[in-house]
Amino acid sequence: MASIKLSEYFSEIYERGKFPRFKVLINGEWTETSNKFDLVSPTDGKKTAEISSVSEKDMRKTIDSAYASKIKIRSMAAIDRIELMHVVMRGLEEHREEIARALMAESGKPYKSASGEINAAIERIRLSMADSRKIMGEYLPGDWSSDTSKKIALVIREPVGVVLGISPFNYSVYTSIAKILPAILSGNSMILKPPSSNPIAFLMCAEIFRKSGLPDGVLQVITGPGEKTGDYLSSDDKINMISFTGSTEVGKHIMTISGLKKTHMELGGKGTAVILEDADIDLAAKECVKGSLELAGQRCDAISRILVVDSVAERFLDAVKKHLSDYKFGNPLEDDGVTIGPVISKKAAERINKMVEDAVGRGAKLVSGGGHKDAYHEPTILMDVPLTAEIANEETFGPVITIIRVKDKEDAIRTANDSKYGLDSAVFTENFYSAWETMKALQVGNVTLNSAPSHGTSYFPFGGVKDSGSGKEGIGYSIEEMTNLKTIVLDLAPGHLGKEYTGKFKD
Ligand code: NAP
Repeated sequence: MASIKLSEYFSEIYERGKFPRFKVLINGEWTETSNKFDLVSPTDGKKTAEISSVSEKDMRKTIDSAYASKIKIRSMAAIDRIELMHVVMRGLEEHREEIARALMAESGKPYKSASGEINAAIERIRLSMADSRKIMGEYLPGDWSSDTSKKIALVIREPVGVVLGISPFNYSVYTSIAKILPAILSGNSMILKPPSSNPIAFLMCAEIFRKSGLPDGVLQVITGPGEKTGDYLSSDDKINMISFTGSTEVGKHIMTISGLKKTHMELGGKGTAVILEDADIDLAAKECVKGSLELAGQRCDAISRILVVDSVAERFLDAVKKHLSDYKFGNPLEDDGVTIGPVISKKAAERINKMVEDAVGRGAKLVSGGGHKDAYHEPTILMDVPLTAEIANEETFGPVITIIRVKDKEDAIRTANDSKYGLDSAVFTENFYSAWETMKALQVGNVTLNSAPSHGTSYFPFGGVKDSGSGKEGIGYSIEEMTNLKTIVLDLAPGHLGKEYTGKFKD
């Protein structure tokens, strides 16, 4: 059974029993709630823990305490906020193995992916500490306009207030930490709601934040079904900003109920790889297999469809088949060498398989895989997928390599852009002019040349266009999202700055 074993350090975050019962963090205290739900591990379909489900009363307390705590973090010197993050980073380093093992048990991630996620979070903290120094502003002399000739302005960045962070299941730890960091470094208090399917590894990280010396109430963590908690929190007037990462459907819903709050939306995608005739075919195939299968395809930046130019399509397929054998499919809790584990639930595996069957029913060739059992879906290759198939257009979020034949570069660009999504993409060619033309033409937030998209610590800014969201995530960029600009105007005309200055440096 996928059991979750925690050391003494984490003893306050749960109640012992037949199954550990995890609490929520409200106003600096781990608190029990009256309602719970079961956490089932996708590795074996068995119950492994109980998770708190907050009531409206709990959420009211959470919001009020985050609101009251704004001043505590806002008035803390930047150097002290940075020091707190140092402490958190050391705590994560110390407990990284234990957190990674919990993440594997609750999400079915292979060891390499789980430990890689914790390492990325640690690296993100290290890189983000410099962010605080970017919370500056501008000095604007007014004499460019007769209207303001005797004035100057300072444009400064201020925290937005209370930030609500909502994170998805596929990177429950990394995404949550990547929201907390810029929020706290720029002086906001934060309410974080992790995904219901796998919140435990992140709850462990929250304990590290709590023990770092962060003032009570600055970080609150609550769990419960998104449609209930998300709706209540997103529509509350005391929340100033929502930083959401998840599906386009839920993102759109939040936009309809959040009123005039600031929002940062990191949503779904249909990552497209374009293989042109002058590509290094073996490299393209290797990268496309990796981009399609890593984390069982459950990545917003996964290569979710491949547009290959007809003249090289057969060679490309042969190379894809060869590189499929670089991956090992199975239960990651039984073998650390497994690279493709289960998807997040049996329901998700069934959804993916319906897309595969739909494509085959419409004429696609099933080259390899196609089977599913419980939460496990076999790595699958589909060739000559017609554009009418659901899998050619909708996010797959599963281990399926979806290959579509196109006539030429122009056909590839047209097909790629005929999508409601605009998140990530890759272009494979050894001709720089073709590469430049294609990369410029694609309507997406991110495009990578001759490599599978990979965003690790978000050192390069990341975000989507069209139905894939708005705003940019990344070192420095996230700080901009979580701060407001304020314009401070000073009138230098005599008498407007108090007593007239009489010194010899009068300007
Ligand atoms: P999801 O179903 O949209 O859930 C995301 C989060 O939203 C979860 O915490 C969920 O809570 C919560 N939620 C559900 N209903 C809500 C509501 N009405 N109001 C507020 N919150 C609500 O997405 P997912 O299945 O966890 O994650 C996969 C999706 O995330 C994919 O579409 C993927 O592309 C996207 N994603 C995007 C990026 C990016 O950077 N663009 C990165 C990672 C993932 P519960 O778990 O309790 O339902």
